[in-house]
Formats: sequence, C-alpha cells, structure tokens
Amino acid sequence: MEPKNDIEIAQSAILANISELASNLHLNENDWEPYGKYIAKLNTESSSNKQGNLILVTAINPTPAGEGKTTVTIGLGQALNRINKNAVVTLREPSLGPTLGMKGGATGGGYSQVLPMEDINLHFTGDIHAITTANNALAALLDNHIHHGNELNIDPRRVIINRVVDLNDRSLRNVTIGLGGPFNGIPREDKFDITVASEIMAILCLATSLEDLKDRLSKMVIAYNYQKEPITVRDLNVEGALTVLLKKALHPNLVQTIENTPAIVHGGPFANIAHGCCSLIATKTALGLSDYVITEAGFGADLGAEKFFNLKCRIGELKPRAVVIVATTRALKMHGGVGKTELLEEDITAVEKGIENLEKHIQTIQTFGLPVIVAINRFATDSKAELEYIIKWCEKKEVDVSLTEVWEHGGKGGIDLAEKVVNICEEKESDFSFLYSNDETIEEKVASIAKKVYGAKDVVFSKKARNQINLFQQYKWDKLPVCIAKTQYSLSDDPSLLGRPKDFSITINELKPSIGAGFIVALAGNILTMPGLPKNPAALNIDIDDNGNTKGLF
Ligand code: ADP
Ligand code: MG
Repeated sequence: MEPKNDIEIAQSAILANISELASNLHLNENDWEPYGKYIAKLNTESSSNKQGNLILVTAINPTPAGEGKTTVTIGLGQALNRINKNAVVTLREPSLGPTLGMKGGATGGGYSQVLPMEDINLHFTGDIHAITTANNALAALLDNHIHHGNELNIDPRRVIINRVVDLNDRSLRNVTIGLGGPFNGIPREDKFDITVASEIMAILCLATSLEDLKDRLSKMVIAYNYQKEPITVRDLNVEGALTVLLKKALHPNLVQTIENTPAIVHGGPFANIAHGCCSLIATKTALGLSDYVITEAGFGADLGAEKFFNLKCRIGELKPRAVVIVATTRALKMHGGVGKTELLEEDITAVEKGIENLEKHIQTIQTFGLPVIVAINRFATDSKAELEYIIKWCEKKEVDVSLTEVWEHGGKGGIDLAEKVVNICEEKESDFSFLYSNDETIEEKVASIAKKVYGAKDVVFSKKARNQINLFQQYKWDKLPVCIAKTQYSLSDDPSLLGRPKDFSITINELKPSIGAGFIVALAGNILTMPGLPKNPAALNIDIDDNGNTKGLF
C-alpha cells in the first residue's frame, strides 16, 4: 500500500472537540469562543501571570530541498506533551498565495500537522480576509479623499500604501486606477501586494492590545503631500473604522495538532518585508497558558530569528529561553554544492562543506546569548554516514544535537529533542540581549545585522537610500529598529551564494517606512511583495470528490 500523503493523514486523524482543549488549558467560559467544532478564538485579556519557556524554531538558509521548520515545531510540541510537559505550539496562518502556488500549505507534514488543515490552509477564521478588507478600505478612503477636493494636498504620485489581495497574481503588480473621467476618481498608478506583505498584517502581529492596534494603525504613513511631508492614517481620521474591521482578527485562533496538542495559529507576516512570525498576542497568550511555547520564525535564522529577537521580542518584551535550528542532510548538501536532482547520492564532502552554513547560524544565535540545539529533520532517504557526520560534528563543537523523526512518527520521533530542550531550560542559563540599541543610527543598525548575522564585511547604501536616511532623520523615524528585506536563500544578498559566503558586501537600495508596525524596512536587492504563480501551480492538483472531500492540498 502507498504511504498516506499529508491530507490523507490529516483526514484520518481523530480530533478532540475544541471545548476539550479549552478545558485542558483551564480556560473559563469568557476566555474563548467556538468557531465550529474544532476551532476557537481566544480572548486576549486573559489574566494569567504564568510565564512559560519560549522556544524558537529556526533553520539554516532554505533550499529547494525543504527544511521542515513547521513540521519540527509541531513535532516538538507533541513530543513535549508525550513526556508530560504542557506545551503549546504557536504558528503563522498560511497565505493562499503559496498554498495555491508553489510551496503548498503551511500546516506541517506527515504525523506532525495542525488540524483541521483544510480550514487552516484555506479561509480559516477569516483573519486574512479582514486584513485585506481593512487595507483596501484604507486605500479606497484615501482615493476618495483625493477625489473630493484633496484637503490634505496628497500627491497622487506619492501614495505609498498599496492595495492587497491574498493571492499570487503578478498581473496586479502595477495597475492604473481611476480611469474613465471625472466621475470615476483621480487617475493614478497603483500597485497590489499580497495581503501577508501588508503593513496592516505586520501591525496586527505586533500589537499588544486593541488600543495599541488602533494607535499603530493611526501612525501608518500612507502617502506624502506636495511638500513631501508624510500623511498618516490619523490625518485621514479612519483608524477607528480600520480597528473595527480588525477587532475579531486580533483574537488568536486555537486549534490542535494530530496528537491533540494545543496550537495557536495566528497572523502571518512575510519574513522579508516584515518580521515573519506569528502574532505577539498569540505568543503572549500561549506563554500564559503553558510551560513550553514552541514557535517558528520564517526563512533561515539570518532573517526569521534575527527579526524575531530584534523586533518581536523587543516590542513584546519577550525573553526566549532556547533556540532549535532545523537542518537536513539534503539541504546541507545543497549548501555544499550538490544539485537538487543528485540529493539521493551519499556525499560526505558536500555535507562537510555545506555545514558551514549551519555553523554560521549557530554562532549567530550564540551572539544573542541563547542556548542552541540542532534538530536534524530526518528524511527516509538520508544516508546513515551523512547523519552520523552531522551528529559528530555537533558533538565536536559542543552543540546539542538531536536526530528527529517527527514527520514519520509524530511526537514519538521527537522525544530526544524534547528532553534536550527541557534539559536546557532547566539547566542552562540564557543571557538574551538585542544586537543593537534603537538609539543607534539607521546605518549602524543595518551594519550591525549585516556584519554579526550575515557575516558581511561592509554595507553599501545607494544614493537613494542615503537621501532617505536623511529624510527619515528629519521625520524622527531613525530611532526605530530595522527590518532587512533580502533573499532568504543566501546569507548574502545574492541568492546564488550558498553555504557560508565570505568577503561580501550588502547593498541597501532603498528604505520603506513601516511606522505603524514600528520599524524601518531596508531593502537589500529586489524584493517581490506580490509573488507570481509557477507554470504548474499547486492549484492544478487540488480537487474535490463526489462526497465533498478535498484532495491534493499539502
Ligand atoms: P518549513 O516550515 O521549513 O517551510 P515545512 O515543515 O512546512 O517546512 O515542510 C515543508 C514540506 O516538507 C512539507 O510538505 C512537509 O510535509 C515536508 N517534510 C518536512 N519534513 C519532512 C521529512 N522528514 N520527510 C519528508 N517530508 C518532509
Ligand atoms: Mg514553515
């Protein structure tokens, strides 16, 4: 018999009613609201003063071989529950762009999945739709203001908020709106981004309360006037309406894993233009409910973990306890120069070379003062000698390492990892600190990340970026932390430089203000905020049978 695929495993799992999960978490009646049988929205004002251990799951630089961060995050949560620790997993909500496009869903895989995977991967509780609506309401209100006399003197050529849709749709990247004469608005060039790349998504994920959400929305810079002064949401006076549209979306979603471990799936900002992890409210809520909170940051540690620490932990005053770095023999081999089609052949020399990428990320996490544990996510096709090489290498470097089989065996395959994580939390000190202080200049902050995290020798700022830095100082935005948008594939800003590139510069072409979210985006290279679909998108495999069962989601 063929082994089951992800959706078949998910469909054969036995889910507990969500009320059972709520009661296991000692939630009382006012703390949650059911959304059907298997999903609940949590009340964010829970008064618990419990403070669980926060464990971040990150990875080496992603390769087309796939790393499995989400799968390991879920598997580790399940494994902790199996050794009688109470654990909650917190993850991002999947975006429909990748689900229908190339990557597929984002609910884990094999026997480490969050459920109901179909709902979570599709419309879920509508949070992303709410963000789309709030963003597009803002765009419509802005264009309406210009149409009705433009009291704020907004320069239609300098509108910086884009419209959004949560799909990969390259045809919408650049559009012209307002055509058709005076009754149809003022013509201007506009752009569409994917919803998860919007500032409102980042804001929702960093807001600490409803009040804070409204305050952040009001500070969003959406355009400039003809004097080149910034125009904010507050100038348009619509932060109240936007907050109302987002009121329910701010509440985190409770679901469960295949083994009925509680999981909070909430918010899903991009990991390049934004900070790439689930909402702060989700993490804080989970910390109040359990002893161990396992959470994932997007892409490799150079993007996801760095931003998790310097942005999310700073804004939310979180103190992570330990970091799991996921690696696979396949991905290490690709970093060592092996092509995607030759991954099945044993090649210790390639592992030896590719492991330099892992080494850099280990050092980075240690720079933040945190204990590290390497989780090797085992694939059935892995060679024993290659696995042994990685384990020995870690032992020689005195780094904790665990061979995990959570994809194949669920929590049972991650018991060793769970025990090592518990051991670290109980015995090792963590001395977490940020890489830079907000008082430093924008140049210093970028340089600090580029040198300490990417291993760059220096940073080059384009003329445009330099002019923007001067302007941002005038607007008093320079005391915000920075969010670097660069390729996820390399430690450098060149996606073809795998492994551990040396002696390279990072070039910052442009800056973008995300004042509501509370950071300055520094763009290193061309960053797409509206992805396209591949020639054969995942959507071609998605279907429904006569009984209404979905097939082909993964
Ligand atoms: P990430 O979060 O790093 O993007 P995911 O956990 O979403 O990665 O995994 C990406 C894909 O790889 C999923 O389809 C998952 O089922 C698959 N996968 C992960 N780990 C394994 C494994 N050990 N063996 C086979 N497939 C795996
Ligand atoms: Mg993931």
